[in-house]
Amino acid sequence: MKLLITGGCGFIGTNFILNKINIDNNIIFNIDKITYAGNESNLIHLKNNENYKFYKADINDQNLLDDILFRFQPDVIVNFAAESHVDRSIDDSTDFIKTNVLGTFSLLNSSLKYFRSENKEFKFIHVSTDEVFGSLGPSGKFDENTPYSPRSPYSASKASSDHLVRAWNSTYNLPTIITNCSNNFGPYQFPEKLIPLMIINCISEKKLPVYGNGKNVRDWLYVHDHCDAIYDVIKFGKIGETYLIGGNNELENIEIVKMICSIMDEKIPRPNGNAYSELINFVDDRPGHDERYAINFNKIQTDLKWQPKEDFRLALNKTIDWYLENEGWWRKIQKNNYNQERLGKNQ
Ligand code: NAD
Repeated sequence: MKLLITGGCGFIGTNFILNKINIDNNIIFNIDKITYAGNESNLIHLKNNENYKFYKADINDQNLLDDILFRFQPDVIVNFAAESHVDRSIDDSTDFIKTNVLGTFSLLNSSLKYFRSENKEFKFIHVSTDEVFGSLGPSGKFDENTPYSPRSPYSASKASSDHLVRAWNSTYNLPTIITNCSNNFGPYQFPEKLIPLMIINCISEKKLPVYGNGKNVRDWLYVHDHCDAIYDVIKFGKIGETYLIGGNNELENIEIVKMICSIMDEKIPRPNGNAYSELINFVDDRPGHDERYAINFNKIQTDLKWQPKEDFRLALNKTIDWYLENEGWWRKIQKNNYNQERLGKNQ
């Protein structure tokens, strides 16, 4: 397959490229603007791989997109490129509208031209989030028929992009598929997100900031399981459909933080002998903080035979090991382009 990946230097895109570059004779072209969240060095060791190409580009650059599509002739686009951090969208949503809404619009326009004139087998896979469905109470789960009810500038911009993708399918017959997944975790996740932030703050003996009462529930999905789900959608997904992807790991934020603390207690006991949980610090809640997300992923399980493989605690252990073994990776990000004030915030 020839895959055009957008946002491949971010967290999920990097994992996807690393997992899929050496299988099925895949050829991957990655375009990424390299915002604060993009890291070209994640994939630097692929630079001599003849099946991988990288081009630094903004998905809003319509002429460039046209050119890349017509030259590279992909079988599929997987659109990961986005502004993805809710807290940043609350501070300033401009880039969220530019990239998530207008950027997706540009990609759809270029894809339609390419589809009509060059490649009738082409597919457009749009990677989205469960946050478009809003907040759940203590029971129930999101499924493919849940109405949209986004509550943050981030989720509203992703919801807009989903609507555009669906419209391009219904109106122009562009072969699109949308995936909405829950919170991912794993290697290469940007250090301001909940799990990496807690690991890094433990290592650095800093406070562990937890929003509100820590009772917000997310359904955690190991990033490699997510990448496999997207790959199954590319290969076997039905055009025009939406697939929800979840990890079957509903946990309160505070439970996750305590689990990280207990694993860290075993791996690298603190110099003073105290438990890492002593560093937990409840901070003011995020405005409009969604209470609970949970995913019913029966459709992808039944239709495409995908289900998450990873055990949560083992995957969390692997993730902690990765951050311990790759201290240079996150320290460089902290030093170069990371607003230190965000150490007090998390997702
Ligand atoms: P990320 O923020 O780590 O990476 C985003 C990447 O997109 C970065 O490499 C960035 O440089 C690039 N990018 C941003 N604007 C761009 C533009 N205008 N043109 C080209 N590239 C641009 O995000 P992520 O966590 O890897 O998420 C990937 C996708 O998955 C996003 O669409 C996000 O909404 C979705 N998603 C993520 C999660 C999660 O838990 N991380 C959950 C559900 C859905």
